[in-house]
Amino acid sequence: MVRNERYGKMSIYLDNAATTKPCGEAVSAAVYAMTENYGNPSSLHRAGLDAQLAVDKARKAIAASIGADSSEIYFTSGATESNNLALRGISAAYGRKRRKIVISSVEHASVDETASALEKNGFEIVRISPRDDGRFYADDFISACDENTCLVSMMLVNNETGYIMPVRETFMAVKRSFPEIITHCDCVQGYMKLPIKAASLGADLISLSAHKIHGVKGVGAIYIKKGVRVIPIVTGGKQEKGIRSGTESVPLIAAFGAAVDKFRPTIAERYERVSQLKAHLLEKIGGIENVAVNSPSDGSPYVINISAVGKRSEIMLHFLESKGIYVSSGSACSKGQQSGVLGEFGISGKRADGAVRISITAQTTEEELDEFAEALAEGMTKIRG
Ligand code: PLP
Repeated sequence: MVRNERYGKMSIYLDNAATTKPCGEAVSAAVYAMTENYGNPSSLHRAGLDAQLAVDKARKAIAASIGADSSEIYFTSGATESNNLALRGISAAYGRKRRKIVISSVEHASVDETASALEKNGFEIVRISPRDDGRFYADDFISACDENTCLVSMMLVNNETGYIMPVRETFMAVKRSFPEIITHCDCVQGYMKLPIKAASLGADLISLSAHKIHGVKGVGAIYIKKGVRVIPIVTGGKQEKGIRSGTESVPLIAAFGAAVDKFRPTIAERYERVSQLKAHLLEKIGGIENVAVNSPSDGSPYVINISAVGKRSEIMLHFLESKGIYVSSGSACSKGQQSGVLGEFGISGKRADGAVRISITAQTTEEELDEFAEALAEGMTKIRG
C-alpha cells in the first residue's frame, strides 16, 4: 500500500495493465538525460554523440531482451505507433498484390482500428475468433491464409483477460505453409513477464511499450527482422534509419532501457510470485456471491478479469476508488466504452457489464489483495446494481 501524494491518502494500485509506476532506475535515467545528457543524437559534436550512445545502450538492452540484434530495434512513441507501423508499413510494402490481412478478433484497438482503416483502403481483413471453448487455434488462422495474404497479426497476451494466445504455434504453421507471409506480434502485455524470443515466437515484427514495464509513457519499440521491408509512416529527418523520423526522445528511451535492464533478470521469479498472488486473490474472492472469474486459469497471472455479476463495472470501479483501490473496467484504453473482447471470449450480458480488471505486479502484496477482496464483497452488498 502506498501513500499517494497527489490524492493525499493510502491507495492500492491494481491497474498495472493500463500503466505501471516508473521504477527509480528509469526515472534516474530520464532525469540524467534531461539534465546532463541533453544533446540531439543526430548532432555531430560530443553532446550529440553522448546522446546517441545513451540511445544505443537502450537499443542493445531491448534487443538482447528478445534475442534480437540491435540493428533490428527501432524506437517509436509507444506500442500504438509500433502497431500502426506494423500494419500500415507492411501493407504498404507488400500489399500491392497481396491484399489480405489476418488478425485475431481480440486485438488491442491500435491493431484492430488500424486494420479497419486499411479495410477502407481496399484490404480484406479476416478476424479470427476463439472457438466455443473460448480458445484460439492455429488451424483457424492457417485456414484463413492464402497467397493473397501479406500479414498475420496476433497479440501475445490479451490485455483484458490475460489469455495467452498460441502465437508460436500459429506463426510457425503460417511460415511452414506460406513462408512469404509476414508475422506480427503485439507483445505489450507479455513483455518482461513471459520469456520472449523473436526467433522462437516466429515473429517478423514485435511491438513493445515502455510504460507497461515500469518505464515512462510515450516510448515504445518495434522489432523488425532483418530483411523485412516496412514503409515508414512518419517521414522526415530519417532518424532510426528512416523507419521512424523525428528526434529520438533520449530521456524516455534511456528510461526504457533502464527498466529492461532492471527487470530482465527476474522474469521467472516474478512470474512465480505473481502466480502465487493470483492464486491468493482467487481464493479470497472465491466465496463472494455473484463474483465470477473471466480469466482462464492458464492465462497470464498479471491480468485477472472478474465479474461482479449484476453490478455495473463503472459503479463498482468508483466504489472501490472510494476505498482508495484502483482497478479498471475492461480495458483502460476503451475509457468506459464496453469493448467487444469479452464477448469474443464468450462473456456477455450481465457478466460483461460487471467486468472488472485487476492487474498486478510482483510488488503487489497479499494484504492489498485482501483489502480489495473485502471492498469487493462490501460493494456486492451495498451497490444496488
Ligand atoms: N497493445 C496492447 C496489448 C496494450 O495493452 C496497449 C496499451 O494498453 C497497447 C498496445 C498500446 O500501447 P501504448 O500505450 O504504448 O501506445
